[in-house]
Amino acid sequence: MCVSQRAGTRFANARARIWHKIIQRRFGALKMSDSGGYQHAWQQYKRRGQLWIALFLLYVPVVVGAAMFCLRYFHTPKPAIVVAVFWMGLTLWIGARINLWRCPRCGNMFSGTMWRSKGIFAGQCVHCGLPKYDNGEGSAG
Ligand SMILES: [Zn+2]
Repeated sequence: MCVSQRAGTRFANARARIWHKIIQRRFGALKMSDSGGYQHAWQQYKRRGQLWIALFLLYVPVVVGAAMFCLRYFHTPKPAIVVAVFWMGLTLWIGARINLWRCPRCGNMFSGTMWRSKGIFAGQCVHCGLPKYDNGEGSAG
């Protein structure tokens, strides 16, 4: 009885841990430890920003390359159009995730509001003033 009860508790703990990981991954910076700073959140933000810049810069070369490849080997540009639409969608999706990214200190949208956003060019949180990539240790409040 005691063993099964403990096993049940362990299972519930494991499930809670998995949910905690999922929530943390999904909502990124919402739950950050006070002492550990915001390094993990900033790394995530930086990675998204770099990905968005790469997608933006590679759009024309990739689509033109795909169009040339498709015209040469398939004699139709249709697969390249699919690539272009997918690439645009991905760029918009990553851009939206950057714009909706939440400040690790105050939990509000870091780069602006729903209607007006500075995107990756936001140098600090528009709500609490936390500078970009700041660990939040020097300036409290
Ligand atoms: Zn903030």
